[in-house]
Amino acid sequence: MTKLRILIVGGVAGGASCAARARRLNEEAEIIIFERGPYVSFANCGLPYYMGGVIAEERKLLVSSVEVFKSRFNVEVRTEHEVIAIDRSRSEIQVKRLGTGEVYRERYDALVLAPGAVPIRPPVSGADLPGIFVIRSIPDSREIKQWIERHRAKSAVVVGAGFIGLEAAENLCRLGIKVTILEMLDQVMPPLDPEMAAFVQRHLSENGVEVHLNSKVDGFERTSDGALLVGPRPAKPTTRTSSSFVPGYAQRAILPKLPDWR
Ligand SMILES: Cc1cc2nc3c(=O)[nH]c(=O)nc-3n(C[C@H](O)[C@H](O)[C@H](O)COP(=O)(O)OP(=O)(O)OC[C@H]3O[C@@H](n4cnc5c(N)ncnc54)[C@H](O)[C@@H]3O)c2cc1C
Repeated sequence: MTKLRILIVGGVAGGASCAARARRLNEEAEIIIFERGPYVSFANCGLPYYMGGVIAEERKLLVSSVEVFKSRFNVEVRTEHEVIAIDRSRSEIQVKRLGTGEVYRERYDALVLAPGAVPIRPPVSGADLPGIFVIRSIPDSREIKQWIERHRAKSAVVVGAGFIGLEAAENLCRLGIKVTILEMLDQVMPPLDPEMAAFVQRHLSENGVEVHLNSKVDGFERTSDGALLVGPRPAKPTTRTSSSFVPGYAQRAILPKLPDWR
């Protein structure tokens, strides 16, 4: 009898825990995780704290590894393999090996989609200038750390005062960087009641963080002296930062983006 083949797209929180659970339910199944990034099962939650040096070593972000998945769960993990299409009529996926560009197919009996979310870069001019970052992966936080060190960044702007934006602000402050937060709504931490958010905002001010509410970013510009100008809307003074700008960001689920090539 052929073994059940379970293919999983995405190898972080959802994909990795699904693989472990599937193994407990079926000892015989062939289980393969496809992860387009370089790591499987890492601690997203620790990324801002790695940036701020609270988590000193990058390897502490790694919850598991390809080897552990193989030896403990008999689950095969293929990192740097991106699933680019699904053929439901043939129960196959199309996979791109990112290192070589080679594309191949794999058959499945069950397919799990756990591709997470992508950070939103505001669709405004200059949003892809050097020195503007998102923080979503280990390579992202490594890049930010390196930028801060290389440019001896003294100031930073964080766009978005949600959970991740505030964690970014906290950790940039920890590095002695002057932080300005731009938030398009009229309070920090939008999920909280305004009365609760006021405590958070006071705490930010007490720690030297400048907060601009009702400030929607409408563009970025690099000046000849290397500063980055961040323009909020409505008419407010443009915020000027020495070199480093780190957007706290909203995430957009990427599930619907996976093409189905039936
Ligand atoms: C900076 C930061 C801090 C956070 N802090 C907290 C916190 O303190 N508490 C909390 O509860 N949550 C926190 N979160 C949220 C938490 O990390 C996410 O909710 C969780 O990671 C979602 O898990 P997931 O498996 O759905 O997606 P992800 O963790 O995003 O994993 C999906 C994976 O799928 C891969 N992938 C996507 N498409 C493909 C494809 N086509 N082929 C192959 N692979 C693909 C991606 O590369 C990605 O690695 C934080 C997130 C971030 C970014």
